[in-house]
Amino acid sequence: MRYVSTRGRAPSLSFEEAMMTGLARDGGLYVPEEIPSWSAEEIAALAGLPYEEVALRVLRPFVAGSFTDDQLRPLIARAYEGFGHPARAPLRQLAPNHFLLELFHGPTLAFKDFAMQLIGQLMQAALARSGERITIVGATSGDTGSAAIEAFRGLSNVDVFILFPSGPRVSEVQRRQMTTPGEDNVHALSLDGDFDACQARLKDMFNDHAFRDRVRLAGVNSINWARVLAQVVYYFTSAVALGAPHRPVSFTVPTGNFGDVFAGYVAKRMGLPIDRLVVATNQNDILHRTLQTGEQRKAGVTPSISPSMDIQVSSNFERVLFDAYGRDGDVTSAQMRALAEEGGFAVGQGAWEYLREQFDSGRASEDETSATIARTRAATGETLCPHTAVGVHVAEAHLGAVPMITLATAHPAKFPDAVEAATGDRPPLPSRMADLYDRPERVTDVPDDLAALQDLILSKVSA
Ligand SMILES: *Cc1c(COP(=O)(O)O)cnc(C)c1O
Repeated sequence: MRYVSTRGRAPSLSFEEAMMTGLARDGGLYVPEEIPSWSAEEIAALAGLPYEEVALRVLRPFVAGSFTDDQLRPLIARAYEGFGHPARAPLRQLAPNHFLLELFHGPTLAFKDFAMQLIGQLMQAALARSGERITIVGATSGDTGSAAIEAFRGLSNVDVFILFPSGPRVSEVQRRQMTTPGEDNVHALSLDGDFDACQARLKDMFNDHAFRDRVRLAGVNSINWARVLAQVVYYFTSAVALGAPHRPVSFTVPTGNFGDVFAGYVAKRMGLPIDRLVVATNQNDILHRTLQTGEQRKAGVTPSISPSMDIQVSSNFERVLFDAYGRDGDVTSAQMRALAEEGGFAVGQGAWEYLREQFDSGRASEDETSATIARTRAATGETLCPHTAVGVHVAEAHLGAVPMITLATAHPAKFPDAVEAATGDRPPLPSRMADLYDRPERVTDVPDDLAALQDLILSKVSA
C-alpha cells in the first residue's frame, strides 16, 4: 500500500515511511492511495474473534509491503497485553438501542492508548530494522502525552520528551501519569506557558531543520496515519458484536481533532454498514458549525470540562475534505491556506453535500454535559467522563431503529473534578493504578524559550 499527501505535492510513501514521517513535506497529511473494500462475508467472519485477530485483519492491507503477518502478530499482542479488560474494547448497554464502547481500559485510561501502544511497537520494530534512534517530542493538553510516555517508556532506541502546560489545565491524574514513569528515556517537561505555547515550541523545533536532523525528531501527534489506522479496528469489533454486516449500526464520536471519527469513516468506506456517523463537539464547536453551515471559521478556544476536545483547528478534517473534493490536492491546499491566513473558508457546494451525506453532528454546552453525567448515573448507574457525556448528549438526539454506539473515550477517574461537580461523588481509580498518588514524580520545569529547550533536549539525547 502506498500513501499520498492531501496536498498532492509530496512523494508517495510506504506505510512505514508515512508512519515515521508524520506530516508530509508539502504540509499535507498522508492517506492511503486507495481504501480496501471488504465483502459482507469477510466482515461476518470477524464475529467472535479476539480483538488482536481483528486488528491483524484490518491492518493487513494497509501495512502491506512494510510488515508481514508474522511480524505484525507479536507487535499487536504486545500493544494490547497491558489493557485491563480481555475484550480490550467492551460494549455496555445504556438504553434500549444505545450502547457505550468503553475505550478506556488501556494504561492511561483514555482511547489514545489504542493507537499509541500500537505505534510504539511498530516504530520500535522499524527502528530495530534500520538501526536508527529517534527523538519523539510531543505537546499535550493531557491525554496524548501520557499515552505517548506509556507507549515508549523503556524502549531502547527512542527518547521521548513531552511538553505540557504548567498549572491547573492538566488534571492531577494526567500530570502524574506523565511524571511517575521512572525510565531514563522518559522526560516530562512542565512548560511555563499554556498549551498553545507548548504547541508553538514544538512547531519551532520541527521547523529548525538542523536541529530536527541532528536529534532525528519524530512526531506521534494525531495526524500520524498509523494512529488513525489503529482506531479503525474497534469500529469493526463493536459493529460486528451488534450484528453487522447483517444489520447496520450508527456511531456517535466525541470529537476534537477529528482523528477518531475519521477512523469510523474509513471503516465505513471499507464496507462496514454504518448508517450514521455523528460528530459530537463541546462548546468549541467548529466542526458542528462547519457541517451545519458549509463554512469553516476559526473562533477562539473557550476552556471546557472536556479539555481534550478544546480545539480551534481540527487537523484531521483535511483528510475528509480531500475526499470531499474528489482527492484534488490543489483545492484542499488552497482551503487550508485560507484557514491559516484568513481564518476560514467556504466549503464548495458538492463537497459540502458529500460531508453531510457522511456525517451528522451536534454539540453539548457545559450545562448539558454536566446534566448528562448526572442523569446517566441516576438512570443506569454508569459514570461517564465529561467527553463521553458530550457524546451521549448528542447521541440521544439521534436514537432510532438502528443501534447507536457512543464512544466512551476516557475513564471518569481521569477527570474527577468535573465528575464530582456533576454527581457529588469522586470516581475512584481502577485498582491496577490505585497507587498513582503514592509514586514519586520526576519532572523538569522549562521556560517558554526555544533555545533553552533545544539545549536541554540535546544534553539528554547525547547523554
Ligand atoms: C483526544 C480525545 C478526544 C478527541 O479525539 P479526536 O481524535 O482528537 O477527535 C476525545 N476524548 C478524549 C478523552 C480524548 O483524549
